[in-house]
Amino acid sequence: MADTTLLLGQTLSFRADPFAAGVAESAVHVRHGGVALRDGLIQETGTADELRARHPGATVRDYGDGLITAGFIDAHAHFPQTAMIASWGKRLIDWLNTYTFPEEMRFADATYAAEIAARYFDLVLANGTTTVCSFCTIHPESVDAYFSEAQARGLRMLGGKTCMDRNAPEGLRDTPQSAYDDSKALLEKWHGAGRLSYVITPRFSPTSTPEQLAAMGALWAEHPDCLMQTHLSEQVDEVAWARSLFPEARDYLDTYECHGLLGAGAVFGHAIHLEPRERARLKEADASLVHCPTSNTFIGSGLFDMDGLMREGQRIGLATDTGGGSSFSMLRTMAAAYEVAQLRGRALHPAELYWLATQGAARALRLDHRIGNLAPGIEADLVVLDLASTPAIAQRSTRANDIWEALFPTIMMGDDRAVSAVWAGGRCVQPAASAG
Ligand SMILES: [Zn+2]
Repeated sequence: MADTTLLLGQTLSFRADPFAAGVAESAVHVRHGGVALRDGLIQETGTADELRARHPGATVRDYGDGLITAGFIDAHAHFPQTAMIASWGKRLIDWLNTYTFPEEMRFADATYAAEIAARYFDLVLANGTTTVCSFCTIHPESVDAYFSEAQARGLRMLGGKTCMDRNAPEGLRDTPQSAYDDSKALLEKWHGAGRLSYVITPRFSPTSTPEQLAAMGALWAEHPDCLMQTHLSEQVDEVAWARSLFPEARDYLDTYECHGLLGAGAVFGHAIHLEPRERARLKEADASLVHCPTSNTFIGSGLFDMDGLMREGQRIGLATDTGGGSSFSMLRTMAAAYEVAQLRGRALHPAELYWLATQGAARALRLDHRIGNLAPGIEADLVVLDLASTPAIAQRSTRANDIWEALFPTIMMGDDRAVSAVWAGGRCVQPAASAG
């Protein structure tokens, strides 16, 4: 059995949802705190002195003033779009045709898929992200590359084969039957292997026929322990397109609902331009909505109604949506969520932003009992932040009167330079030189 490791520093964890319970009742900050890790799990949290006294033989990593928290969780991303992030100047449908589809075509090549998967996990770990829920491409090779790389690194990752059988170029289309067969084979191969979860993944209604959506619904009914991810109501033009392709549907959400693709475990990216019926049904079904703010501003999609949707009690996570999103960093993503909410008249508290990027995203992926917090029994996926990582941040944070004033400059101005260390499954994976 492995020995106990103590990570010492400031700690930040949550005992409740700050949107529902308020910041004071939910966030727990310990100025001189620590986390005891054993067998890949968090064994205990407490003050540094308590933990040192209780674990005299433990290996100690003292991070000083570093802030130890749960690793970031990115609830919606496209790892195959890594190499085309920050492509200029298009709206959603043109952007897909001009940049995304030609790049995704390359993932038929297993060697290329493996190269990008390795590069992608290097980038997300450098940014402190320990779990991602990713779309792959239509090629099974892309799913194998993603999960093989995650498994080799001992990471908790979710993903699935993106299914499309219309309105996509030759070479990026499957069929209802092949989408079902390939997804099922990949699910049986990867779901529950190590810390991996397969996610049933129709891209979105405009690129699937009703027959393909029905096949995905049938697969989900056979495997209800899997999540189902797709896109919903990202841009006004896209909503009109979806409605025109499914004239009998009551609204965009109904194109999924009537094919068995709405329920607990459904994870909808974007969800910006929602009708009242859609909001009511999403809540009733306990589906998850994923806010992708850097993508929504970059592609010009619109302003997610965080305040209104939270007050309705919707289940909401946060995500980069790379490469539609313009950053791999969940710090930058929190900053964009702050800016989008400000444009709707609501200043999100740093505790709310941090909760969205950890516990909220874990809850959206129905993994909050395993990841996204510092608590006994939670998997030891952690990030250590330097709250003075650049001169501009350092000169601001020295004036801070509390943890929120100390943390907010890093949320707004921080990037991968703020990430001092990353632990995954109880092992230090970043910086790589100290891995062991
Ligand atoms: Zn997306």
